[in-house]
Amino acid sequence: MTEDQIKEWRCRLMNILSSDNKTYKVFADQALDLTLQNVGEKVFFRGLIEMSNRCVKDCYYCGIRRSNSDTHRYELSEQEVLSAVQVAFDQHYASVVIQAGERSNPSFIKKISSILSEVKRRYDGKIGITLSLGEQSRETLEEWFALGARRYLLRIESSNKDLYYKWHPNDNLHTFDRRLETLKILREVGYQVGTGVLIGAPFQTLEDLVNDLIFFKKMDVDMIGMGPFISHPNTPLFDKNETSQTLQDRFQLSLRMISALRCLMPNINIAAATSLQAIDPMGREKAVKAGANIIMPNVTPQSSRADYQLYPNKPCIDEEAWECKGCLEARLSMVDRKIGYDEWGDAPHFFERL
Ligand code: SAH
Repeated sequence: MTEDQIKEWRCRLMNILSSDNKTYKVFADQALDLTLQNVGEKVFFRGLIEMSNRCVKDCYYCGIRRSNSDTHRYELSEQEVLSAVQVAFDQHYASVVIQAGERSNPSFIKKISSILSEVKRRYDGKIGITLSLGEQSRETLEEWFALGARRYLLRIESSNKDLYYKWHPNDNLHTFDRRLETLKILREVGYQVGTGVLIGAPFQTLEDLVNDLIFFKKMDVDMIGMGPFISHPNTPLFDKNETSQTLQDRFQLSLRMISALRCLMPNINIAAATSLQAIDPMGREKAVKAGANIIMPNVTPQSSRADYQLYPNKPCIDEEAWECKGCLEARLSMVDRKIGYDEWGDAPHFFERL
């Protein structure tokens, strides 16, 4: 994009983010049209496996941060992760996301490698693997790619460095530059790269969010997952809650972010974040109508779901995986969309940039 184009887009994006409900409806309809034209009418599912809430990091917003001693720490065994992959496969979700708190000790890296090898052996490419395991070395990311992982999600959280340090400790474990560098490495290694930001978190302005959208475009990412910030009582940002907007405001702003992004990057995959559903029971369906095309049903064993609380009021804690499928089918038929069963559902953007 030229500087003039960026200027023009900033203006357009700001108009969408700050639109009133009536004007927003027009933008949302445009975004939906662009979705149907560029990524099709199918919504793709990614079975989400929350592998562990053990984490070395201490992010000020996150419920599984290292300093939260009021959480029961767990880690699924390799067998439990493989069973969850099988659950996803049986539901015809041809894709899973393995997510966990951040760790990079040798035994953790080895465990992921071993899971990837086994998935490759059992399914031979019939199930796509996305990892969401935080910052890792180039060597580790190369190893996991060689073993079959194809997509990686690493939210930048905020593309504004100053704001990033209001949400994270300013120490060696939490450097903005390393997070940014990791996104670049992921791309070089060959992953389909996903990132995203928190929406409506303390100290964040609409200009920050417009800059985040421009950042996604400049990074030329393939996938985005972004959702409303939901304050967790056992985190430092909880006290700052009064400086941010109401939950409903953050929800509305998140829908506008999705529509704005769809206008800016029509052929990428955009996830309807689970945190939307923590605010509104129809949150994910509303996101699909706003321009999202990916939903991540939880396939974590039910006994561990409640412990993976990034934020309070997490939905679907009591359901078993098979219940999610029926529920989502009914919900998506209400918004007139088909489901891409047994397909990886890669973003057209990925193939075009290749
Ligand atoms: N360890 C991985 C996965 C992190 S958890 C990593 O570092 O990428 C996945 C995402 O949950 C985070 O990137 C963050 O954006 C989101 N999250 C954490 N706390 C949240 C909160 N209080 N409200 C909304 N989203 C939150």
